[in-house]
Amino acid sequence: MAKIADIEDRSYWHKTAKSVPLPTQAIIGGRQVDARSGKRFATINPATGETLADIVEGDATDVDDAVTSARRSFDAGHWRNQSPLARKRVLLKLAELLNAEQQQLAAMESLDMGKLVRDAAGNDIPTAINILQWHAEEVDKTYDEVAPLPVGNVGLIRRVPLGVVGAVVPWNFPLNMAIWKCAPALAAGNSVVLKPAEQSPLTALRFAQLALEAGLPEGVLNVVPGFGETAGQALGRHMDVDCLAFTGSTAVGKMFLRYAGDSNLKQVWLECGGKSPVVVFEDCEDLETAADQVVSGILYNQGQVCSAGSRLIVQDSIRARFLDLLTERMAQYRPGDPLDPQSRLGAMVEAKHAANVMRYIEAGCREATLVAGGNAVTVNGRGSFIEPTIFSDVRPDAVIAREEIFGPVLAVLGFADEAEAIALANDSVYGLGASVWTDNLSRAHRVSEQIVAGVVGVNVVDPVNPAIPFGGFRQSGSGRDLSRHAAEKYTALKTTWIRFKN
Ligand code: NAD
Repeated sequence: MAKIADIEDRSYWHKTAKSVPLPTQAIIGGRQVDARSGKRFATINPATGETLADIVEGDATDVDDAVTSARRSFDAGHWRNQSPLARKRVLLKLAELLNAEQQQLAAMESLDMGKLVRDAAGNDIPTAINILQWHAEEVDKTYDEVAPLPVGNVGLIRRVPLGVVGAVVPWNFPLNMAIWKCAPALAAGNSVVLKPAEQSPLTALRFAQLALEAGLPEGVLNVVPGFGETAGQALGRHMDVDCLAFTGSTAVGKMFLRYAGDSNLKQVWLECGGKSPVVVFEDCEDLETAADQVVSGILYNQGQVCSAGSRLIVQDSIRARFLDLLTERMAQYRPGDPLDPQSRLGAMVEAKHAANVMRYIEAGCREATLVAGGNAVTVNGRGSFIEPTIFSDVRPDAVIAREEIFGPVLAVLGFADEAEAIALANDSVYGLGASVWTDNLSRAHRVSEQIVAGVVGVNVVDPVNPAIPFGGFRQSGSGRDLSRHAAEKYTALKTTWIRFKN
């Protein structure tokens, strides 16, 4: 285990990043394999533009192999028929192995998608491991139900695993997104085929290697890296996948519903985009803390967070003062080398995405007032970085107020009274997160009750905890990740009705 002093040193992270072995092969049926086609694709460090590794490019054939192996392991009962205690122990062992490699995993995530290593090491990786432990601990503590039937009858109502679960995840929190899906699916006894995002496959592959080492039977967790249109679509359309859990954009989420309708009506659970409002009332006493949280809420992971508070709705009476607090703070977030623990803002995931965010910034310049930032920059002459950006005087119908930008761009809207604040907050096709800042308890309850969002934080922005369900309303998706409720997605209710002689 590295010392804290080492971890705060830039050269420690550069050394770790250079020496960490990068997994490149798919994991199917417990073996590391190449694609049947022999194809590979480059995974690129967006902070430098350099190729990190050539990764196996799985397609429909490889997905079919992975599903076949998942089905075989499920039907044989190698995993689901183990005792709850045994399954818990394997998952906890996996958490232990991940724990021992925290720094290497943090370096991999930073390299793969430009994330700040201080965030990966200080938050993302420990959070992912904690979530895995949380679901592992649940395995032997969950009871089923007995129905209230007439004497002479017993109705056993049990939650049983669905079979083969497909998971397709995005690049913004690579290990977290993999674990948010795999941990509850595996805990429930399913076999899984995971397709990580093509931009960030490394930690998902390492996760599957360590799962085998922890004792997860072969074929129970398969990982097929590859592109969305090929490998992702093949999983969505596969006739032998029982459930497809997706996290990613709303546009692709809609495709998964179509894939299911066109194939075997597999269950589809969607965690999609967001445009989360942060509503700040004039009766919020601690505007400094509110400003701190609004800034970290939009700048964490360069704003590439589905639940990022990207629409600030602030009462007109305090708008100018609050904007000053925000700009002061944002000035401290200069883009820097993601492997330097002193850096405050990392790289955008890829040049193509950075260009997309810049198009939104150009639209913002036409339709609102640019208060801070607005430029694409390089660090040490390389990479895709964007300055923290604030737009004020944003109209509710402006593109930057309506569409998910997925970058470090905050749109600020004003309001006069509570009714207007609620109407603005709900004026969106999304309903993922929201935040309300007030010191009036009745208002806190009243407003959070009326805002359409999966999680409303009062005097906190975007809180995440394994015990709290995460997911949205409207076009932010369906179902919930995290907490006990995640298990509902990966199980079905099965009743055994027994009539016996008295
Ligand atoms: P994306 O939808 O482009 O890709 C997500 C996954 O889907 C990737 O693995 C990709 O390969 C795959 N995919 C892409 N096209 C596909 C197709 N035609 N068929 C099948 N699979 C396909 O999203 P992204 O750019 O990787 O991630 C950003 C999006 O993810 C944002 O919209 C963000 O809000 C969302 N997100 C949501 C949550 C949540 O929990 N609600 C969490 C993180 C990210």
